[in-house]
Amino acid sequence: MTDTPIRAQNLDNLWMPFTATKAFKARPRMLVGAKDMHYQSDDGRQILDGTAGLWCVNAGHARAPIVEAIARQAAQLDFAPGFQMGHPGSFALAERLVRILPAGLTQVFFSNSGSEAVDTALKIALAYHQARGETQRTRFVGRLRGYHGVGFGGISVGGIAPNRAAYSSQLLPQVDHLPHTHDLARNAFSRGMPAQGAELADALEGIIATHGGETIAAVIVEPVAGSTGVLIPPVGYLERLRAICDQHGILLIFDEVITGFGRLGTPFAAQYFNVTPDLMAMAKGITNAAVPMGATAVRGAIHDTVVNATKSGVEFFHGYTYSGHPLASAAGLATLQLYEDEALLTRVAALAPVWEEAVHTLRDAPHVIDVRNLGLVAGIELAPRPDAPGSRAYDVFVEAFFNQDLLVRSTMDILALSPPLIISPAQIEEVVSRLRRALERVS
Ligand code: PLP
Repeated sequence: MTDTPIRAQNLDNLWMPFTATKAFKARPRMLVGAKDMHYQSDDGRQILDGTAGLWCVNAGHARAPIVEAIARQAAQLDFAPGFQMGHPGSFALAERLVRILPAGLTQVFFSNSGSEAVDTALKIALAYHQARGETQRTRFVGRLRGYHGVGFGGISVGGIAPNRAAYSSQLLPQVDHLPHTHDLARNAFSRGMPAQGAELADALEGIIATHGGETIAAVIVEPVAGSTGVLIPPVGYLERLRAICDQHGILLIFDEVITGFGRLGTPFAAQYFNVTPDLMAMAKGITNAAVPMGATAVRGAIHDTVVNATKSGVEFFHGYTYSGHPLASAAGLATLQLYEDEALLTRVAALAPVWEEAVHTLRDAPHVIDVRNLGLVAGIELAPRPDAPGSRAYDVFVEAFFNQDLLVRSTMDILALSPPLIISPAQIEEVVSRLRRALERVS
């Protein structure tokens, strides 16, 4: 924190990420503290956190074991180069992660964000095929309404038009997109996985028919798409993708940046859906968001193929100065220990029915055209204003923050909820009743 009183602070010099900056600066929404389920705003209010920050503070805020581990590590070993050098923390964290990953994912590459974890996964996929002599496998398949961060790789396989618009001439050249799975006509107000839509995975067959399966390096999807408004996979969809990939030797990458670390009641969504990818990108909850970190997990055979293709010297020309940073590693180890001590990676399994009941009571709130949920995630979709799509959900977010002391996230005309996994049933009721009031106050 700065010593300048916040209300008097100069806001001119910061270029904010993914923000309607002019509106923000006209009426700033400032957070100055956080503990467990709440943020503290600069005007002293306790804001109930309905979004775990940005889908990331899974164990709740400022948890003592994590805070203390970071402080201890900063005093002992602040930084160690990761190229040609090591420190015990990053090895220990990789080993600990493998214990909770789906069986077969045995190697972990560290980075600093979800975007980097995704770009790392794409590079590993290409390096793997090259090492096997399948140099023609250079195409990627993403999905419309997919979000895979903001690197050039991530926006190329991602399917969000505004994120790509200014850079369309410079994206990765060989990318196709599957259709998204959101289908209000067939699936509105689904509880859990929607029944309809598994056949949407068959679009991959169409892409294969056009280009040849032997040209495709990997398919990347979020098991549950979060950033574009909580798009839950239809029953059977992910299994179908897996089967088609297997038939054609195509790698399947799950982007578990938001679904990882207990969000669905299992350590990862792969275990929830019982579909194991070949590579997995993760970030956010890996350190409870206390220190930035991303990670890419891969099947052992993928790692071995790449590493064994080179006789000596560096085998994989990729890495970040802060890969496996000591503070992030310490935060990650403390976080995984806390998840284990409090059984947080499976807590949602029992809480999900309570959550589902609560969020579906919003079905009759003003302008609501869909409520959908899985694990401890929900999307509340609103009818857009004809002249200003997106503005209604944004106004609800602003109203919730200033007048209902609730943090939600708006994306287009969808409100996304993803609270910390420590939320109590009473706090679930609070989230929903405060959101209902906000919906009622926004026309
Ligand atoms: N992938 C998914 C599925 C995400 O939800 C996000 C961020 O929300 C990212 C990647 C990018 O992560 P980061 O913002 O840490 O780069």
